[in-house]
Amino acid sequence: MKKFIIAIDGPAGAGKSTIAKMVARRMGYVYIDTGAMYRALTYIAIINRVDLRSGEDLVKLAERTKIEFERVDDRIRVIIDGMDVTKEIRDEKVSECTNVVASVQGVRKILRKMQQKMGKKGGVVMEGRDIGTCVFPSAEFKFYLDASPEERAKRRYKELKQKGEKVDYGRIENSIARRDYLDKTRGINPLKQAKDALMIDSTDMTLAEVANFIVNRVKNRVKVNAREIRKQ
Ligand code: C5P
Repeated sequence: MKKFIIAIDGPAGAGKSTIAKMVARRMGYVYIDTGAMYRALTYIAIINRVDLRSGEDLVKLAERTKIEFERVDDRIRVIIDGMDVTKEIRDEKVSECTNVVASVQGVRKILRKMQQKMGKKGGVVMEGRDIGTCVFPSAEFKFYLDASPEERAKRRYKELKQKGEKVDYGRIENSIARRDYLDKTRGINPLKQAKDALMIDSTDMTLAEVANFIVNRVKNRVKVNAREIRKQ
């Protein structure tokens, strides 16, 4: 059976990661979190004291850095130059600075190439901000996942609480609003719904319902424009 590329884009906290993982598991596909790649590069830039205002230095860093995903007991680890940074890349400081690194055209070009290499054979669920618009504009299935800002902040709050972290709801709400704004208004590859992506508003849906919806569409070959894909 042909293995497709499933692109899932959308703003922070819309449930992309959880849903993409669920879809990948059920389809037997590989899950690729492109946000983790931008975060990993940001983390390595911070610990190496690279000047985040220097696009040139960030591009040089991206050129010499190896970003990989490793599956360990059903968990995906993010490895950068052989170092496991899975936990570190979720730090608040990294979350706050990733947008700066992700706004550098040369950095995006390098990471986009890596992502295209990872997904070119198909059988992948790739999530991020520009997968359907730039990384795989010809992906067979494209979804744009959204939810109200309140719902997204609530989900993020619950997720962090469950991890045992000290969290402040107001701060999360502000951080999500700030990231939305920066991601949607940046000059290169901003977050936007691809013309042929299907918008799913998950505000009143559970994550499992959204994952079911996506899996059903892919299994039944219902393309976004509702035309049937011929059985391959
Ligand atoms: O998905 P996540 O929230 O972890 O992504 C962190 C940041 O990385 C985003 O806010 C965005 O600035 C950047 N990003 C991007 N393009 C992608 C994925 C993430 O610019 N494809």
